[in-house]
Amino acid sequence: MAKAEEQDVLSLWQGLGYYRRAKHLKQAAEMIVDSFGGEVPMQVDSLLQLPGVGRYTAGAVASIAFNTRVPIVDGNVHRVVCRVENKSDTPSPCNWSWERATELVQLCKTPSVFNEGLMELGATICTPKSPSCEFCSLSSECNAFAENTQHEVPPPKITPKRKRLHHYAVVLTCKGKIAFEQRGELGLWAGMWQVPTLESTKKVTKAKIAEALLIENDLKFSGAFEHSLTHRIINFAVFRCEVRKNDRFAWHTKDTLDALPLASAQRKVLAVHCAI
Ligand code: SF4
Repeated sequence: MAKAEEQDVLSLWQGLGYYRRAKHLKQAAEMIVDSFGGEVPMQVDSLLQLPGVGRYTAGAVASIAFNTRVPIVDGNVHRVVCRVENKSDTPSPCNWSWERATELVQLCKTPSVFNEGLMELGATICTPKSPSCEFCSLSSECNAFAENTQHEVPPPKITPKRKRLHHYAVVLTCKGKIAFEQRGELGLWAGMWQVPTLESTKKVTKAKIAEALLIENDLKFSGAFEHSLTHRIINFAVFRCEVRKNDRFAWHTKDTLDALPLASAQRKVLAVHCAI
């Protein structure tokens, strides 16, 4: 992974989403080779230096892989500790649940087993909507169970409404080849490739799309689809246009597309185009 080209890693990651994770994984592998002698570090402080590794991942690797006495708090663990303490004011993992999990992991025999057990208990027994308290090994010490408040603890998360965006993708063709451009290094689908695309928060006209993408020929509409992401819903409109080849873009035949890192939305764009 450390030696691989980033574009090769992104190609293999295609379709999995969260492309920043692939980039971080590669950068973390490089740092492990360069700064940690090729060995994944065992301590949380060192793990936290790796790109893409936060408190949860560092705790998971340190405790499960190396049995280090450190906590993990995911949504499941947070729910269990909140219910045991009947703490009803914190919807998501917070300093309080990390402190509680830190205290608990000091008392256990084997941190790897304890952390996995606590997560599993939350995932299978102490579930969000219908906890099976009658089968729970913590029921005798659970304050939420004692006070019958387990369905209110922790409080539900307020999920923000997803943003709706409009992407206008133009499949430019020239003698059987298709034009692609690489996205920037930051933000959505960073470093992936796409057909020339105008992104907007509002609907725009065909003339505006052509103007923004510096296309002089007439655009023909090919189709549309909706693409849902965790925080956004994107309305894709796909156009096509035969142009003269130019150096602004990388030109690919259909046969070479498999090696090109394309997010699944771009694969859908090409599917719309090919269906015409
Ligand atoms: S007794 Fe019920 S609410 Fe309490 S930890 Fe167990 S499953 Fe969760």
